[in-house]
Amino acid sequence: MTTMIAARLHAYGSPMTLDRVDVPEPRPTDVLVEVKACGVVPNLARVVSNFFGSMTPDNKMMPPLPAIFGLDPAGVVAKTGEQVWSVRPGERVYVNPGRSCGSCLMCRRGQPRDCPSWTLQGYFGRSQDIMRAYPYGGLAQFITAPATALVKLPDNVSFEAAARFGYLGTAYSAMKKIGVGPGQALLINGISGQLGLNAALLALAMGATKILGTGRNQRLLDRVKALASERIDVISVPAPPSPAASGGGQGGADPLVVWAKLATDGHGVDGMIDCLPPGAPASAMMRALFCLRRGGRAVNVGAIMETLPLNAFWMMTNCIGLQGSVWFTTGEGEDMAAMARAGTLDLSVLEHRVSPLSKVNEVLAGMDDRDGGFTNFVIDPTRVE
Ligand SMILES: [Zn+2]
Repeated sequence: MTTMIAARLHAYGSPMTLDRVDVPEPRPTDVLVEVKACGVVPNLARVVSNFFGSMTPDNKMMPPLPAIFGLDPAGVVAKTGEQVWSVRPGERVYVNPGRSCGSCLMCRRGQPRDCPSWTLQGYFGRSQDIMRAYPYGGLAQFITAPATALVKLPDNVSFEAAARFGYLGTAYSAMKKIGVGPGQALLINGISGQLGLNAALLALAMGATKILGTGRNQRLLDRVKALASERIDVISVPAPPSPAASGGGQGGADPLVVWAKLATDGHGVDGMIDCLPPGAPASAMMRALFCLRRGGRAVNVGAIMETLPLNAFWMMTNCIGLQGSVWFTTGEGEDMAAMARAGTLDLSVLEHRVSPLSKVNEVLAGMDDRDGGFTNFVIDPTRVE
């Protein structure tokens, strides 16, 4: 096969078209993967409308057009470059789209996500050179990728479930940073959404003893609690107290904080992961931060864009930690594959909504119709009708 079908974007804000293009040849350290499933994240609709590109001068964050998007491809290795020795054609893989330059200080230190050129293949990023070198997203029948990007999939992880690894890995890497594990109580801010539900699945796998979760839709919250009702407690976010009763701005009178402390013998949670969607106000994250115990740590993978009214003196005197986290390493992807193989990471609650490649524009337009994080939008590029 020398040509393939790819969904390509020719202009931001316009629909993708199915085009016939050449199947790429893998370079010596690359592989060619036949894509069987590609996850579609709700944010992709914003990306192809140029929401992020318009935030930076000269669209330097966006791939050159025509572009093939698709962030979370899973499939079968079809061909390997001559310097690829530990991966063979026929192996089932997820392709981690995180690309780095490979030779800067941070790459040489083994911290590729801290590379100044870090770029998500099939999405957007910081290096036009990398986007030109790896122009194939998962909304195509074949892609090339470095062999170092491959997560080998156990037989009990379907391609559709692997197409969710982006959200899963984002939550996993973030929760590792704040020490989620046995004996720990964790608050997931936005637990029923696409990121938050995956954080809950991973927190269960990582051994968190108590998992608290906020949300707005009681029906979805009840479904999340049912995953492990003895370890998960959920709350439909109560109205905040009036400013006059806010306890000096440290959440003392907030019914959300009161609930979190009651659930943790008065201490507060050890960790908090913020998974709130775009458009959520800064106050929604501040309330969750005030649920931390002294010495608690928070990590943000959500999309709040408002500036936080952070009180540095409160952070210092309470030894509070707060950091951001982006994506995950291929090694962390291997961890997740191993947890899924062992059954400690249970992905069976995901409801795969699989569509052929020809329906990609309809899928992007219809993503608001979902059951919170339970719906997993997948494109199958092997089907073009
Ligand atoms: Zn680098």
